[in-house]
Amino acid sequence: MSVQGEAPIPATLIPGDGIGPEIVEATAMVLSVLGARFDWETCSAGLAGMKEFGDPLPQATLDSIHRTKLALKGPLETPVGGGYRSSNVRLREEFKLYANVRPAKTLIPGGRYDDIDLVLLRENNEGLYVGFEHYIPIDGDPHGVAMATGINTRAGCRRIAEYAFEYALKNGRKKVTIVHKANIMKALTGLFLETTLEVAKKYAGRIECDQRIVDACAMQLVLNPWQFDVIVTTNLFGDILSDEIAGLVGGLGMVPGANIGEDAAIFEAVHGSAPDIAGKGIANPTALLLAAAMMLDHIDRRDLAQRLRTGIDRVINEDRVRTRDLGGSASTKEYTAALIRRVAA
Ligand code: NAD
Repeated sequence: MSVQGEAPIPATLIPGDGIGPEIVEATAMVLSVLGARFDWETCSAGLAGMKEFGDPLPQATLDSIHRTKLALKGPLETPVGGGYRSSNVRLREEFKLYANVRPAKTLIPGGRYDDIDLVLLRENNEGLYVGFEHYIPIDGDPHGVAMATGINTRAGCRRIAEYAFEYALKNGRKKVTIVHKANIMKALTGLFLETTLEVAKKYAGRIECDQRIVDACAMQLVLNPWQFDVIVTTNLFGDILSDEIAGLVGGLGMVPGANIGEDAAIFEAVHGSAPDIAGKGIANPTALLLAAAMMLDHIDRRDLAQRLRTGIDRVINEDRVRTRDLGGSASTKEYTAALIRRVAA
């Protein structure tokens, strides 16, 4: 597939909520200057979908992704406690996006941790994220008891494990660490561990494999993150550890994510809609830009992806144009303008 000099590639663009429209606009501009020609179908979801169509995941958005099979998405707001179910989770279910790929790499040297280069692979469709929850009333209290059910299937565990080892091979990685809680959740994450260890045997001698209990892994990530290379884990643990890992490389503004399925792929930042800074023009678009670079890799335009990553590196480290979350003072627009100068050169 090509995005330069040939017909533009149809893709769905979801501006999202909060800072979403600001960082999506910035990213689309940079992609255009880079020469990555996408034929964007702009669609809404999340709070924006609720406002426009009374639905956090409007049918038109689903239809668009079914057509294009490729999307770049801003963060979507999900109400805490009650309200509608997460549109992100629904999108991952609808398109069976079973692998969530979150690479974290140090871009700014001299921080608390230098030379971080690790990838978190999170199972994206199962576990405690399936949302089978209910209350049992007791003594007149409708919320007397709360229950949640987690579901892992052997097929689902095998699929993410195979993805992890294949990813490691293709990307020149040396080791996969399986993260679980099989000492306590013996069935739910025991199955994940058992199945992933089975898959690991096929890669013996090519990819090293070890395992950690999730709480120990969380501590090890702070004490010695360099011991990790690729981490593969279940849905909820992956969610939590990926934010921790973002903290190792300068925060949530720096980590991209790809949701990969057999028939579709959706690219996004790891962070949320950042309502505290929405509309202020100070959001860091780097995570979404790096997600766009992953999208370019996905469509086999590694040349453009590399130019984009190099441009980001030069803006941050040579031009020293940085947004506030990175200790700088640049607005989203100033940072974007600096990057456009770099990728256009
Ligand atoms: P958040 O990631 O939105 O924000 C956490 C903190 O990081 C905030 O202080 C925010 O200002 C800062 N931050 C995040 N991204 C930034 C950026 N690009 N530049 C500068 N600072 C940035 O997490 P939250 O506040 O817990 O969640 C807000 C909403 O986002 C919730 O509704 C949540 O459900 C949703 N969310 C969506 C996604 C997604 O769409 N993939 C992911 C996580 C959270």
